Amino acid sequence: MTAPAIAARDTAPAPDPVLPRMLTGDRPTGPLHLGHLFGTLQNRVRLQDMGVELFVIDADYQVLTDRDVADQLPAHMDGLIADYLAAGIDPDSATIFAHSAVPALNQLLLPFLSLVSVPELNRNPTVKDEIAHSRQSAVSGLMLTYPVHQAADILFCKANLVPVGQDQLPHLEIARLIARRFNERFGQPVFPVPDALLSAAPLLLGTDGTKMSKSRGNTIPLSATADETARLIRGAKTDSERDISYDPERRPAVSSLVLLAALCLGRDPREVAADIGDGGAAALKTVVTTAVNDLLAPIRARRAEYARDLGYVRQVLRDGNERANQIAAATLAEVQGVMGMRY
Ligand code: ATP
Ligand code: MG
Repeated sequence: MTAPAIAARDTAPAPDPVLPRMLTGDRPTGPLHLGHLFGTLQNRVRLQDMGVELFVIDADYQVLTDRDVADQLPAHMDGLIADYLAAGIDPDSATIFAHSAVPALNQLLLPFLSLVSVPELNRNPTVKDEIAHSRQSAVSGLMLTYPVHQAADILFCKANLVPVGQDQLPHLEIARLIARRFNERFGQPVFPVPDALLSAAPLLLGTDGTKMSKSRGNTIPLSATADETARLIRGAKTDSERDISYDPERRPAVSSLVLLAALCLGRDPREVAADIGDGGAAALKTVVTTAVNDLLAPIRARRAEYARDLGYVRQVLRDGNERANQIAAATLAEVQGVMGMRY
């Protein structure tokens, strides 16, 4: 499938004064999964369709926070972009780009690092959790400071809305702190203070009952086949109680499956649980599998078409990189200006 060439965009870098601008992103560590769809992707598409300008960063440098080498980056980048397009992100209005392609964005990290203390970085609970799951034996400087890098991701385009999962909230607090401190220290309102946008499923659990994460082998990928999906859900953790209920505090694994079915069906999770009643885990898994496969069928069909047209997928990224570079250059010039770096 060859989509029409994307028109060159030379819009002024300043955000619309009325509509918010959103920035969010993903690490190219594997295919997007149901946690992404319900945690952030659906919100990205919904707001994009309401006219909010969307920036999506593929955070390739941040792959190195928890591993020595970033494997298969080109394939993972292709896959992410195919997932976005299949899920409804419109490359004619959204800007999809890679960290490594936008040097001016990365340079914002330096002034931003000067605005946070080491104890503030050490306190971040998401970083602590990721250190616990890290494949590295020692904590790298990148791991500790990547939330500051994320602040640069958000603030380079002056985004004020960030649709994310719950794990990102501590990082967003750092971005808010940096925006405020920068504006105060240099006496100019350069950056907006961005808000997080959480969904109804800010922390979808994976098949092992912990946060569904690309790197933890517990996902249901958007691109899985119907049969793979059935197999993954069959192997999902549940508990020994026969009666199915929605009780996230007491029964996190079962409740996450109930929530998954409810999200796919657009229903209340308590009603879904009541319908299954004493059918037990097997009945629950049948309901979840059918609901997931029905919802994903059209997304998978579109994704397969994009996967056959990688020339188009890569052009989307090149166009996004170009636009992100224009905006990053303008923001960096403004930052250097207020910092007195005019030579
Ligand atoms: P990795 O294991 O490589 O860190 P990941 O699955 O955690 O991968 P990220 O690329 O780190 O995915 O996260 C991208 C976005 O998706 C973030 O906004 C994050 O909050 C959100 N997200 C990731 N996993 C979930 C989940 N299980 N539930 C809800 N949102 C999620
Ligand atoms: Mg993650």
